[in-house]
Amino acid sequence: MITLHAPRAVRALLDKHGVAPHKQLGQNFLCDANALETIADAGVVEGEAVLEIGPGLGSLTQQLAMRAKRVVAVEIDKGFLPILAETLADFDNVTIVHADFLKADFASLHRALGGGRFSVCANLPYYISTPILTRLLESKLPITQMTFLLQKEVGDRLAARPGQKNYGSLSVFAQHFAAIETVAKVGASCFVPAPNVDSIVVKLAMRPAPYELTDEALFFKLIRASFAMRRKTLANNLAAAFPIGKEDVQGLLTKIGLDSGVRAEALGVGEFAELSEGILLFLKEK
Ligand code: SAM
Repeated sequence: MITLHAPRAVRALLDKHGVAPHKQLGQNFLCDANALETIADAGVVEGEAVLEIGPGLGSLTQQLAMRAKRVVAVEIDKGFLPILAETLADFDNVTIVHADFLKADFASLHRALGGGRFSVCANLPYYISTPILTRLLESKLPITQMTFLLQKEVGDRLAARPGQKNYGSLSVFAQHFAAIETVAKVGASCFVPAPNVDSIVVKLAMRPAPYELTDEALFFKLIRASFAMRRKTLANNLAAAFPIGKEDVQGLLTKIGLDSGVRAEALGVGEFAELSEGILLFLKEK
């Protein structure tokens, strides 16, 4: 098997196929054996299939294929297809799909994964990590867990707790769907070419929300609106987004035990859910 565990091995393979990494497609190849094994160990659930986004040259795909029942990997860059055929030649449990993941048809990907529960594991293209995450979180597919190598700043936002400076709408959104765990840090020297940002491995263990939610769309609108202007109070932000006066929002806040002048960054996910139910009831009774 061709292994890609050193920068020179990656460069040699790229040279052999006459291709160069495209910065605009987030092509930073992971070539550190330790990091690759750590991600695959965290990312594969025994007996399950794995969906990978952006297999690139196949270094993580190889590790996933060694551990998972099957791997479906979606790659946008056609130039990598002959390379993947070479690096994955030893595996009969890998399917490469040539597509833009943001436009890929989830129903057919799910069929290719065998139709049952699956996990997601990827070294994400950093320029679209948030839309990829959002699409997967909202997909309603039977995903057990998602393990991503991503820009540290995004990983920190996913895992942030109320009151922390990175806590925002992405934190609440992700924590509505999943328990978030930081797995490891990965240095820039583990990639070719080295990215100019720090990287982190984060695992999202999907679980049902630990609270009742009548209207998920309203909850998502509430989260976005709550953090729209971080320096404004929550009541001001919500009064600007919903047909409710500021005093009425303040009334709803005090009813669930919060200060009327509270800011969004102080609320936990459960409190946003409670507020969402309050707003729903208020709008119905109005
Ligand atoms: N998995 C490889 C690794 O760990 O070395 C490559 C990871 S590299 C950070 C991101 C990969 O995602 C590249 O192969 C890139 O071509 C691919 N990619 C970028 N945008 C994509 C998209 N919209 N859909 C699918 N793949 C995409």
